[in-house]
Amino acid sequence: MKRVHNFAAGPAILPQAVLEQAASEMLDWHGSGMSVMEMSHRGKHFVGIAEAAEADLRELMAIPAGYKVLFLQGGATLQFAAIPMNLLRGKTSADYVHTGEWAKKAISEAKRYCKVNIAASAEDKKFTYAPAQSAWKLDPNAAYVHYTSNETIGGVEFHWVPDTGNVPLVADMSSHILSRPLDVSRYGAIYAGAQKNIGPAGLTIVIVREDLIGNALPVTPSILDYKVQADNGWMPNTPATYSVYIAGLVFQWIKKQGGLAAMEKKNTAKAQVLYDFLDQTEFYYSPVAKSDRSLMNIPFRLRNEELDAEFLKQAQARDLLELKGHRSVGGMRASIYNAMPIEGVQALVAFMREFQSKNG
Ligand SMILES: *Cc1c(COP(=O)(O)O)cnc(C)c1O
Repeated sequence: MKRVHNFAAGPAILPQAVLEQAASEMLDWHGSGMSVMEMSHRGKHFVGIAEAAEADLRELMAIPAGYKVLFLQGGATLQFAAIPMNLLRGKTSADYVHTGEWAKKAISEAKRYCKVNIAASAEDKKFTYAPAQSAWKLDPNAAYVHYTSNETIGGVEFHWVPDTGNVPLVADMSSHILSRPLDVSRYGAIYAGAQKNIGPAGLTIVIVREDLIGNALPVTPSILDYKVQADNGWMPNTPATYSVYIAGLVFQWIKKQGGLAAMEKKNTAKAQVLYDFLDQTEFYYSPVAKSDRSLMNIPFRLRNEELDAEFLKQAQARDLLELKGHRSVGGMRASIYNAMPIEGVQALVAFMREFQSKNG
C-alpha cells in the first residue's frame, strides 16, 4: 500500500488510524450488518453516531451551555450567506475584516443581504498580515463582526481573539478549527467546512449562541435557518451521514492524542520545523508577517520563481504532493493540518534543503 505526504489545503490529509477504522467498519458497523452509508439517519445506529460526534466536539472545544452545535451541508461558502441571513436580526449592516481571498468571498456574499462596513483591511500589504485590533474601525450598531481567523490561501492566522464589545463576533475557522484550544464564549458564531481539519467534504459545522437565533430574514430557506436546524437536532432533512461518522472518528482520534492542548503543541512544533528553515535560507522565503503566520497553511516562495515548476516536479517524484500555491497567489503552500505527522514536514524540509544545494 502506498501513502504519500499530502500537503493539500482541502480536501486534505486524514489520520491514518481513522481511515483504517473506517475501512474495518465499512461493511458491518458494530455488528449492525450495514455500512454507515446505508443507515437511516433516523435509525438508532446513526442517531447514536451523531450524538456521540456532537458530544465529543462539545467536549473537545469546551463549548459552553447556551451554544447550539449544528452539523450542516453546503460548505463554508453557504455560511457566507447563512450568517447574514440569520444574524442580522433586524439590523442593516455588519462589520467585516478583510484579510484575503476567503474574507473577500464572505464580504461579497454578505453584500447581497446588508450593508458591509470594512472594519479593517490588510490589502495595503497584499494580505500578508492580520490587522491589529487598534486598526479596526468598529460600528457599535453593526449586527456582528466577521473575520477569517485563518486565511487558508494567504497563510495568515489570528493568534489573538478580537474584542468587539457587545457586538457578536463571528469567525470563519474552516482551516484551523481544532488546531488549538479556543475560548468559544468569546464568539457569537463559529463556522467551518469539515474538509480541512475535521473530516471529509460535505459537512459544515456551525457553533452559534442560542440567543442570536430565531430571527432569520424572512427569505431564509428553512434549511439555512439556524433555529429550524437547532429545533430539529440538525436533522430537518438528511444530514451528510458518512461525513458526520468520519468526523466523529476524527474527534475521538484527537481526544486520544490528548485533546486540543496536545494538538497545539504538536502543530507548533511541526510549523516551527518549516518556518525555522525558511528563516535561515536566502533561497526560499515566507511572505507572511512573523507574528501572524499560520500553523496550518504555510505559503513559501523561491526567490528564483523560474525554478517553481522544477521544484514541484521533483517534490512530486518524492511523494511530496499538493505543494503548489493557490492560483490567486502563486508560489508554494504546505498545509500541515492536525493529521500531518511531523515526519511529513521533516521530509519536506529535507527535500527543500537538497533542492537548494543543487540549485542555489
Ligand atoms: C476552504 C475554505 C472556505 C470554503 O469552503 P467550502 O467548504 O469549499 O465552501 C471558506 N473559508 C475558508 C477559510 C476556507 O479555508
